[in-house]
Amino acid sequence: MGQGGADGRTDQLIHPLARRAKPYRGANMIEVPSPLRLRLDRAALVANWRWLAAQSGSAACGAALKANGYGLGARAVMHHLAAAGCRDFFVATWAEAAALMPLPEGASLSVLHGAGASDMIAARTLPVRPVLGSVEQVVRWRDVGEGRPCDVMVDTGMNRLGLRVEEALAGALGGLRIETLLSHLASADEDSAQNAQQLAAFRAVRDAIPARRYSLANSAGICLSTDFAFDLTRPGIALYGGIPRREAAGHIRQVAFPETRVLQVRDVPAGEAVGYGAAWTAHRNSRIAVANLGYADGFLRCHAGTGAMASWQGHALPLIGRVSMDLVAFDVSDAPAIGEGDWLALGYDLPIVSSASGLSQYELLTGLGARFERIWSE
Ligand SMILES: *Cc1c(COP(=O)(O)O)cnc(C)c1O
Repeated sequence: MGQGGADGRTDQLIHPLARRAKPYRGANMIEVPSPLRLRLDRAALVANWRWLAAQSGSAACGAALKANGYGLGARAVMHHLAAAGCRDFFVATWAEAAALMPLPEGASLSVLHGAGASDMIAARTLPVRPVLGSVEQVVRWRDVGEGRPCDVMVDTGMNRLGLRVEEALAGALGGLRIETLLSHLASADEDSAQNAQQLAAFRAVRDAIPARRYSLANSAGICLSTDFAFDLTRPGIALYGGIPRREAAGHIRQVAFPETRVLQVRDVPAGEAVGYGAAWTAHRNSRIAVANLGYADGFLRCHAGTGAMASWQGHALPLIGRVSMDLVAFDVSDAPAIGEGDWLALGYDLPIVSSASGLSQYELLTGLGARFERIWSE
């Protein structure tokens, strides 16, 4: 509109400088390569889901897709897992649910944050169930949910989302068509007495409240025992390569492999410093690679000084100096063949990088930014 200046009225709305500029119509037709890529292993994702499904015993195994599939891309994850037989998916918000339409054949999607007053148009329009999480939401759904099925969250000791057990047992859920009754474990990644307490509380709720299915376990809960599985499990982090408990080590495979491209390589004489704050000084004549990656991509400043590495053709390349917004530097003195445009693979074994950096495995994945091009194998 108004690009060619043919329409006199719209032309007046365009700044004189912009009017003089030639419109460029090809921008959406050229391929703009990203200097950051996230290689994603579809076979590993599916193998992780199959292992979690086997650990779930006779329960169905679903998938948590919130936060864009923990940063990997919710739509692709949903389609890969649906093709493998997964049927039950969970997101946090209605915006996340809307972005996943249309759903694969036979898939069911639930919104964990329930149905707030401003969610009701989406909740009545989309083929998605709310996970009702408070007495207020239950009342609202009874009033305007038109008798449609819903899920319900009961809080068994975490005090985050969900009706209190007493509220549920006192009849707050009467008259609902409950598809899945859920609760969530607060400490399943630890050997905590809270796990058995929540299990007992959830069993009491199950015995009193009719629902088609009952669901308690996240990834760590699946590792605890099949006692926690009930009818449906809801893993997230372990699908994506996180190790929630020691029982999963050796079974769960890494799925996400970040890579960054070298922008330039430079020689740094002994005694000179690199980067903001001169935080790293060359103790010998060094060669460093400056690469396209920074804290704006979710590679946070706390990785500096933790032994973080990239690798290239079998060479380990230590991260040096501070992490900038869009740039990092690696010491490539021992791999002098590295040049501009080469791809470096970031060391991103989640348990190792988590314990070195102090970031959780969840933060390491969900922080990976929009500048990564997500590329699935196969
Ligand atoms: C995020 C979430 C899950 C998945 O948890 P993981 O620890 O990633 O396996 C399951 N259930 C609920 C209610 C969640 O919020």
